[in-house]
Amino acid sequence: MVIMESQEQAQPMLSVERPTLTPKALIHHKYGTTASYSIEEVQQHADSGCPGLVIPQQVKVLYRCHLNLPDLSVTSDTFTRKKDAEQSAAKIAIEKLGIQSTTSNPTPEESSKELVARISSLFNDEFLSSSHPLIGHFGVAFGANREHFGMIPIVAIIACDVKANNLCKVIDCKAESNPLLVSSLVLNAARVSSSLCTADDELWIWKQAPYSAKTIESVNSRDSGSSLGCVQIGATYIPCSIKENVEALTLDVSDEHYYLDVIAQKLNVKDSSRLLVSRTVGKASSEMKLYFPFREVAHSRDDSLGLFTNPKGNEHIDSMLNKRACYLSGQDIYGDAILANIGYSWKSSNLFYEDVSLSTYYRLLLAKVPDGHYKLSREAILAAELPTAYTGRSNWKGPTPKDLLCAFCRQHRLPEPLFSVLTIKKNTSLSDTQMKSDVSHNNLDNSGTFRCEVKILSRRMETMLEGSFADIHRKESDAIHCSALKVLLWFNKYFKQLDMPVERLSSLDHSDGISVNVETFCQEFAMCLSIFGFKQNDYLRICSSLGSFCKNDPNRKYKNGMVVLNTEGPESAVFPSPGSLICISYTVELVRIGDPVKYHLESKDEFEFEVGTGAVTYQIETCVSQLSVNQSAVFVMDMPSKDLILAVAGEAVKHLSEIPLYNCFLEYSLKILRVAQPLEERMEQALFSPSLSRQRVEFAIQQINESCACTLVDFGCGSGSLLDSLLAHSTTLEKIVGVDISQKSLARAAKILHQKLSLNSGAPTSIRHAVLYDGSITVFDSRLAGFDMGTCLEVIEHMEEGQAHIFGDVVLSSFSPKILVVSTPNYEYNSILQKSAMPTMEEKTAPCKFRNHDHKFEWTREQFECWATDLASRHNYRVEFGGVGGSADVEPGFASQIAVFRRSSSDLVENYAKMEDSPQPYELIWEWSHSCRSSF
Ligand code: SAH
Ligand code: MG
Repeated sequence: MVIMESQEQAQPMLSVERPTLTPKALIHHKYGTTASYSIEEVQQHADSGCPGLVIPQQVKVLYRCHLNLPDLSVTSDTFTRKKDAEQSAAKIAIEKLGIQSTTSNPTPEESSKELVARISSLFNDEFLSSSHPLIGHFGVAFGANREHFGMIPIVAIIACDVKANNLCKVIDCKAESNPLLVSSLVLNAARVSSSLCTADDELWIWKQAPYSAKTIESVNSRDSGSSLGCVQIGATYIPCSIKENVEALTLDVSDEHYYLDVIAQKLNVKDSSRLLVSRTVGKASSEMKLYFPFREVAHSRDDSLGLFTNPKGNEHIDSMLNKRACYLSGQDIYGDAILANIGYSWKSSNLFYEDVSLSTYYRLLLAKVPDGHYKLSREAILAAELPTAYTGRSNWKGPTPKDLLCAFCRQHRLPEPLFSVLTIKKNTSLSDTQMKSDVSHNNLDNSGTFRCEVKILSRRMETMLEGSFADIHRKESDAIHCSALKVLLWFNKYFKQLDMPVERLSSLDHSDGISVNVETFCQEFAMCLSIFGFKQNDYLRICSSLGSFCKNDPNRKYKNGMVVLNTEGPESAVFPSPGSLICISYTVELVRIGDPVKYHLESKDEFEFEVGTGAVTYQIETCVSQLSVNQSAVFVMDMPSKDLILAVAGEAVKHLSEIPLYNCFLEYSLKILRVAQPLEERMEQALFSPSLSRQRVEFAIQQINESCACTLVDFGCGSGSLLDSLLAHSTTLEKIVGVDISQKSLARAAKILHQKLSLNSGAPTSIRHAVLYDGSITVFDSRLAGFDMGTCLEVIEHMEEGQAHIFGDVVLSSFSPKILVVSTPNYEYNSILQKSAMPTMEEKTAPCKFRNHDHKFEWTREQFECWATDLASRHNYRVEFGGVGGSADVEPGFASQIAVFRRSSSDLVENYAKMEDSPQPYELIWEWSHSCRSSF
């Protein structure tokens, strides 16, 4: 039934080796404007796969590109994006023409020569009168009292000259991950150069011939007038041994103190000629780099090549590996390292710098964990969590799952993830017979036609993780984001328990549709384990401080990992519910037992998230679910990891890094500013007055009064909206019961009912007895059997279809109310709801998805009637259909469809009493009766 129609890469793969020209750029390079591209639109009608069967459905537009060159024309395949079609055409042309661009693909030999030329040119008079950050270093080298007059440390060249770095990578691809090799290659190029001199064991380069006085003068006068004075620059010291703490340090730089020498001295080496430097870490635009000593690593010198090398597998050298620095930069870094953000600017040769605080360091670390980028970009490190569900772009806040996964791969220097979108053909339309026999077709017809697979490659381009997920989406982008999110969540699970045994790695995931090439995977992520594995043990030592905090005060209850200290503000009618978007303000402070000072960590005036998807920490989610709009609360919870605290610590970071954190906890103050209802309610309110839910309640009340019902059970009562309304109406009811499986909703229902019943200020109610049970309505409880009236409003669509069928059987065969009222959305009405709620949406948009993301299905009229009729006939009930919102006679029928079941024969009454055992699986949550006092 499911046929793969096309497989395309949503994300063209990026080369990791080094930047190469795109096919289009290469063609441009060769042919300039004589190359002409033309785009053709291709309409793709999905083939029904079934001759003679015509299915109305969306037509998808794809693009094909024709490329005309003077001596060749080619045509690409079809793509969803124009630019992919163009690149593909260019690629085909390149293959046909056998183009090998020498400018974009130089050989290592050519690059070696070019490097010699490049390094030599850096010391020319001509270069020295140009603009380049290296000129700032020359300014130092030409200083009057300079011991090494005119000598430039190699570290300076590597820190400033992009071109030299790129050439090194072509000469030897290992240079990508090995800063020592880069230095060696540059040193070697200088030795080969006839115009340059090098020192024997020190990394200096200088020009043989003297400079003209004019050149020296011009370099020295460059930054005259803008004297640096004395500055203190914050940097971070990362000791080689993982057992020692990372520490803040200050670099005192001045006109007299060359910054590279200052760094060298902090690392206990003589001067800048003994320094090595990493690539840029963090933002590519910064000059944040790791500096480390040369003496630690230069253990042998291959004289034939003139290179310093590190014999691999040498235990001593391996023990000098600075794991944290390696992890940050993805390069081999040895010995203690300093992370600093300093450099000379291009034009003026002024020094520019930015402090690298401990927080900066911990933020860099955080950016590398799978959910770190999300927390950082939402600027809510202590509040945001990577949501566990993607329910559409409008509900998702922050960078999309796809962008997050790409960022994660980039952080670990892995190739971009590969997304393959599979289009699934529909080969079935809703015919009557199919409907009855196979209700699950509903899924295919309501929800869409895209599936997405994801591949994560290792640096060596081997597949190391594959995600293949069964869920089908109406929109291609939804399919991509959902798959990306699943992969991210899997990584997150892995990062939270890095020390898990390898065997579990492969077993943990299968059910999720993820399979891992364990060997490749472990190779890539070995470094994480050695860093965080150590840390994780460390965290275990920070045990709960809240235990002792609660001991002295019986009012403090430790529940759900937190202690709620107080809630404030009047309760309003607007509660956050799953699927609603909520906006809160919050502040997080660190509190130490016995210390009156609270340390401010994080706060936000407005923070928006979707309730019920785990988009915030568990404690915040629990807290807000107990509040309504305008209420605020304060709660405390145990410390998260110290890394997280230091990443947000700001000013206090230095102090906090020194105090032990076992006596501390976090105090959150938050307030709900506003709640946007779930789509369902927004849509229903936009179109109906009174609202659809109001109309459902009125429909039920009419049934109650017409049949003079005395007892009622509301199956899936939720927060008690029906039961609550019943109190305000005069009805024939004496006893009302609600059942639900959501304890949160039940708690809310109890609160409201309790208030109203105990106030009972002249309300018209005849109700003497009200009860709430926690239990599943697919399971029978004898206490609710034989009631006059059963209601089940907008509940069945929240269960899997199979469960809805079971509920139908259980309710009619065992609970056997005289009358049962069941309502559920009419799927056919969705297009109208959607248009009214979102008028800006284009006419041609495909049928909308379900009204609420918690809905497992939504039925057409036919499907609902089929379910109800079948049930009624099997259990000796009669059924009639009605509804609210819209009209039965006008297409597409009622917005909310309702079935009213009536028990046919009275001899079934007390059927339940004959049963041998009277199962009572429900748990009593709350009970009120008129005579006795209620137990709450
Ligand atoms: N009837 C209410 C609530 C509708 S929302 C109203 O009209 O406002 C659907 C409710 O069904 C939720 O509260 C959910 O917890 C409940 N529900 C879903 N499956 C259930 C089950 N198997 N047993 C009991 N309640 C269930
Ligand atoms: Mg619903």
